Amino acid sequence: MPLRVVLLGPPASGKGTQGRLLAERRGLPYLSTGRQLRQEVESGTEIGRRAESFLRAGEYVPDDLALDLAARWMKQAGHGWVLDGFPRTVPQARELDAWLGPWASELVAVSLEADSRELERRVAERLECPDCGWSGRRGKVAGERCPRCASALAVRDDDELENFLSRLRAFGELTQPVAAYYQGMGRLRLVNGEGSRNEVCARVQEAVGKD
Ligand code: ADP
Repeated sequence: MPLRVVLLGPPASGKGTQGRLLAERRGLPYLSTGRQLRQEVESGTEIGRRAESFLRAGEYVPDDLALDLAARWMKQAGHGWVLDGFPRTVPQARELDAWLGPWASELVAVSLEADSRELERRVAERLECPDCGWSGRRGKVAGERCPRCASALAVRDDDELENFLSRLRAFGELTQPVAAYYQGMGRLRLVNGEGSRNEVCARVQEAVGKD
């Protein structure tokens, strides 16, 4: 049975880091809708032009835009995958279930839990690789170069405090109900997102089940 995983969690809870690790270990394709949106903005595509003002304000993009992006990606992704940042609202979660049909019950939603002070600290220290999406802490890597592809690491435009707080609010209002939606169907796994990358990764692996 191919693994279908959705990662939920507030901004800076580690969805990107853990999503990538899980996808690598299980040989699955990985989608970060947030990163994809930032790239669309950068490249000035139609989706990027529509998303830009929402990203700048720390608001979620409209559901039809997120659905469009996810649908396009899923068409070429095959049956197993790791999704980071989609679905982020209940209408998106319902639509994903509709796409999956009878396989919807196989989906596992992993919610990464972390204290909001810890999240704030991580955001203040976060650097991201603009080329491969690797992310880590300021002062932790030689020359602030990406340990995977050696590009210069940078601060994400949306990682200033006000934007982060706005995203945290959106998470509480729109994404917490997604966790409740999955919980109601027994598809939610809560994972403690504090600790080292490897510790959290081991918990995520446990939560989704061994191969
Ligand atoms: P973080 O988890 O730190 O907020 P992401 O890179 O996952 O960062 O997402 C950045 C932003 O992209 C979100 O705050 C939101 O504006 C937008 N976004 C990403 N995925 C979705 C989605 N499924 N629906 C609506 N907006 C989205």
